[in-house]
Amino acid sequence: KNMINRRKVIQSLAALPFAGSLLGTNSLAAQSKTAAVVSSLRRDFFKELGLRTFINAAGTYTSMTGSLMPKEVIEAISYGADEYVNLDDLQDKVGERIAELLECEYATVSSGCFGAMSIGMAGILTGKDPEKVKQLPNTEGMKNEVIIQESHTIGYAQALTNVGAKVVKVKTAKQLEKAITDKTCMLWFLNAHTDQGEIKWEEFIALGKKYNIPTFIDCAADVPPVENLFRFTKMGFDLVAFSGGKGLRGPQSAGLLLGKREYIEAARMHTPPRGETIGRGMKVNKEEVLGMLAALELYLQKDHDQEWKMWESQIQLISDSATSVAGVESEIHVPKYANHVPSLRIRWDEKKLKISPNEVRKQLREGHPSIQTVGDSKSVGMTTWMMVPGQERIVAKRIKEILSSAI
Ligand SMILES: *Cc1c(COP(=O)(O)O)cnc(C)c1O
Repeated sequence: KNMINRRKVIQSLAALPFAGSLLGTNSLAAQSKTAAVVSSLRRDFFKELGLRTFINAAGTYTSMTGSLMPKEVIEAISYGADEYVNLDDLQDKVGERIAELLECEYATVSSGCFGAMSIGMAGILTGKDPEKVKQLPNTEGMKNEVIIQESHTIGYAQALTNVGAKVVKVKTAKQLEKAITDKTCMLWFLNAHTDQGEIKWEEFIALGKKYNIPTFIDCAADVPPVENLFRFTKMGFDLVAFSGGKGLRGPQSAGLLLGKREYIEAARMHTPPRGETIGRGMKVNKEEVLGMLAALELYLQKDHDQEWKMWESQIQLISDSATSVAGVESEIHVPKYANHVPSLRIRWDEKKLKISPNEVRKQLREGHPSIQTVGDSKSVGMTTWMMVPGQERIVAKRIKEILSSAI
């Protein structure tokens, strides 16, 4: 009964041409009052379930549900939820649109970057042979070896082995050439570990071309910078994968697979609506497909310089607040590859401040509001790019409170 009343109130609020007019003014204060009325009527699912929400000062972590989607993305998702459409036709059209936007040959929306790697790999293993498609993860009769630099092997390479591929590890270009056999089907590169590997992008691509073996780059967390969305397909990688729900702030369950049409069409043979495939469980429906497209369009239109300046000033604010406590030091740094955003590391002398970084993180997490950070036994780490602007002030205040109470 209560629910129906709430819904009616919301409907009547929504029916107003401009929500601010409810209070007879267009002032910001009045608008935010109206927003507060509407949000107080919203069903609070997390509270109902006994779950705490938090300020995300950590970054894009799957365990923390990734990123927050802008309203344009939510609108695209709700639009999609209200209509039927042919799934393959939708993926065809959105693939064309994304390819046009990102100036690459072709594209598809996948179930995250991991999903993009699995379907991309599956497509390379089977090509467009329907019998082979049914056969995976059994790769009998197929080339199934993927060469990876040892320093590039991380847990996420399981996306490749899950569908049947075998990983062969090498360190140098010479070793890579030696490792190539008549079973080699792909060379895989992890952008996040570019610095750790001996073989860099151009040489890696050249080796692929020399032996006519497709190259695949995992760029999951490599937006920003926006240029990366264009850079690696243009450079010559045959397939490029991004997470949809990290810097792009699309659906956390979506991703992008970009590159050569022949490989992406083969990858699509493993995806729904088709069953009898290794990719059936990696379904993305119209909601994720449209959400991903809207997120990408929005991201491309964004003023990236302005956003960067905002992140810098947010980080500076938190840093200044923390270091106003005697004995506290901070360092602002930007990771070169992956999560390339202003980031903060806070340290102190534990002889002066009788509290450990893990205890500070625990107090931040358990306080009101709850604040999630990263870190280790030596420091507390933060980023602001996944926060709602304004939350940096709360974080700045809390970190100072906790640190100064330990003097
Ligand atoms: C996050 C991440 C993935 C997985 O991406 P999802 O979009 O969560 O599937 C793969 N590789 C790297 C390097 C990542 O950072």
